[in-house]
Amino acid sequence: MLKTEGIVLKELRYRDTSKILSVYTKKYGKISIMARGAYRPKSQMIANSQPFSYNDYQLYKGKNFFYITQGDILDSFYSIRERIERVTYGYYMLELIDKSLPEEQENEKIFKLLIKGLKVLSFLDKDYLKFIVAYELKFISFLGYKPYLDKCVVCGSLNKKDIKFSVYEGGIICEKCVIEDPFSISINEELYKAMYNLLYTPLEDIFNIIMSNDLIYKLHDIAVEYILYSIDRKKFNTLDLIKTLE
Ligand SMILES: [Zn+2]
Repeated sequence: MLKTEGIVLKELRYRDTSKILSVYTKKYGKISIMARGAYRPKSQMIANSQPFSYNDYQLYKGKNFFYITQGDILDSFYSIRERIERVTYGYYMLELIDKSLPEEQENEKIFKLLIKGLKVLSFLDKDYLKFIVAYELKFISFLGYKPYLDKCVVCGSLNKKDIKFSVYEGGIICEKCVIEDPFSISINEELYKAMYNLLYTPLEDIFNIIMSNDLIYKLHDIAVEYILYSIDRKKFNTLDLIKTLE
């Protein structure tokens, strides 16, 4: 018998009444759980087998899946469903985890970031994209690809004049080293500072940082390109929905 906290990332119908869940757990990382009978009207599992629901699970491991013996709700994050923006950005946060992490690889930092992120999102009424950029930068850092922002990632130069961001090298790159990555993205001082602040300020405090929408859009594009490159993926499906909101 295994016991762990977990958040449902995805549900997939299986046969008439069951679901296969992708769940991100604190102890075992991302796992597939068979929730037998979860679609039955009187099932105990209706609430704790929906995306965003945060549960304390008792599981056992079968040949292909984990199975639930008990699930107690810790937080349903119901208020995320009350606004289209919250639910759309929330699905993107779940997709980030689902696409970036292999099965059964534990990462407690990412687990805690997700819980904290969903808590902040539950009450968000504005600044959604600023929040998501801060989340993206922290997420990719905890995954092991923290953007190198202190010095030129190639030569170590501290000069911040005419720097660019190199997705390929994973950090800022100076004027002299730009030859190492001809596709590096121009960033001015303002953009550099905004990226630095969103990476290092705690999620709940980023709303005090003032920055223009234009800057946030640019940072979001850079963050997405960097994440996709780092995890070797082509796209995130939920970003198409986010574009329709912005
Ligand atoms: Zn350099």
